Amino acid sequence: MNKIRTRYAPSPTGKMHVGNLRTALYEYLIAKHEDGTFVLRIEDTDQERYVDGAIDIIYRTLEGAGLIHDEGPDKDGGYGPYVQSERMKSGIYLEHAKKLIEKGSAYYCFCTKDRLATLKKAVGSVSEDEEDEVKEINKYDKHCLHLSKEEIEKNLADAIPYVIRQNIPQDGTTTFHDAIFGNITVDNDELDDMILIKSDGFPTYNFANVVDDHLMEITHVVRGNEYLSSTPKYTRLYEDFGWEEPEYVHLPLITNEDHKKLSKRSGHSSYEDLIEQGFLSEAIVNFVALLGWSSPSNTEIMSLEELIRDFDYRNINKSPAVFDMVKLRWMNGEYIKKMEEDKFYTMALPYIKVAIKKDLDYKRIADLVKTRIETLCDIGDIIDFFYELPDYDVEMFTHKKMKTNSENSLDVLRELLPRFEALEDYSETSIESVIMSYVGEKQIKNGQGLWPVRTAVSGKQSTPGGAYEIMSILGKEESLYRINIAIDKLVRI
Ligand code: GLU
Repeated sequence: MNKIRTRYAPSPTGKMHVGNLRTALYEYLIAKHEDGTFVLRIEDTDQERYVDGAIDIIYRTLEGAGLIHDEGPDKDGGYGPYVQSERMKSGIYLEHAKKLIEKGSAYYCFCTKDRLATLKKAVGSVSEDEEDEVKEINKYDKHCLHLSKEEIEKNLADAIPYVIRQNIPQDGTTTFHDAIFGNITVDNDELDDMILIKSDGFPTYNFANVVDDHLMEITHVVRGNEYLSSTPKYTRLYEDFGWEEPEYVHLPLITNEDHKKLSKRSGHSSYEDLIEQGFLSEAIVNFVALLGWSSPSNTEIMSLEELIRDFDYRNINKSPAVFDMVKLRWMNGEYIKKMEEDKFYTMALPYIKVAIKKDLDYKRIADLVKTRIETLCDIGDIIDFFYELPDYDVEMFTHKKMKTNSENSLDVLRELLPRFEALEDYSETSIESVIMSYVGEKQIKNGQGLWPVRTAVSGKQSTPGGAYEIMSILGKEESLYRINIAIDKLVRI
């Protein structure tokens, strides 16, 4: 069997969306599972759609996600160049199109825009948002296929602008095999004579893609199922050239929770947006891997190594995959819990510093939040009380289960205040022993001592860490100040 070669072939047209990342990931996993080669090829022949900076996003995303390519523009593996606009310079696409012309599988087309527009009219105009339909009914009528050799030569000599079109037979059918969707057969008369070389001399995406997949000896082509309708035209090109087709793997749609197509406008759909929202790269990759595929053991949390080991593209699901934000958040939380403490500290520090603009023990705060968040962006909300005591409601001292109310809380705080004042060593353990010996003396429940203190120093119903941890992080002066505020609040009712 040939060595597996897969490619991620993005067009640099903007952000790298979750769907693109999934394609890249599956290509990577298919290659790595078989010890094959993962190639990065930049498909930039559509000058109009080119977006500055998009190539950098592709590099940053692949690197951030750990999908390291073996060959690409920056890593020659003998199949370069790996950027289509550079490949074009050697004339390979035109050369291949001409080979098809010789075989009668392609032809020069000199039709003007005006003539093509009349064709469109002949089948009726369609609104812009039904663009796909336009393509289908706006079929080229093969007018230029019937030009004589002399007419073609004269037009070329007169430098009349032309495109080169694929010549698809009007009868018969075309069948291709897809690893996920099975055999798909279409009637040839449904297929348009698509343009292979545009009037500016650039190949179309469709043509360059097929030529390059062949020349780069790509064995598996993974892409979104929106390409299924174009694939018969690729199949015809492979047949016309006499080349072997790669294994096609068309991926199911990704929808949002409402089962609508994931829109590029919704913020959560790009890798870099997700990173900005506090998700970890490992969690994003793990989550994306499960958008349409699951491991045979149904394990959810899987590292990239485990994915490489278990991934089998033949088990990809046909039905749409739902981008479930709740699941991604849960998964991210699991990754944060598992993370090594120092690594987490480094990642959490910028978020902690934004929320707490004063000098506290950030490392201890990081340790407290690690098991209590789902994304790094959750940090701010749960630690902001360290920076500033919120204006809380005195009702918070009343807690049924803890058997506390405003009266007994006031007693507890008043009686504990001098003991805290007297405390020299403000460590967690000494604060703990002050509260515990008080609780013992008074023969009250632990909660009756702890709840009022924690409420007073945090102003929050739930906090990362308990009374001792919070007090020792805040320090003596700030803790006493907060307890005094609580006493004032309780006195005033
Ligand atoms: N350049 C195409 C894209 O970015 C690649 C499609 C394919 O993988 O064949 O969508």
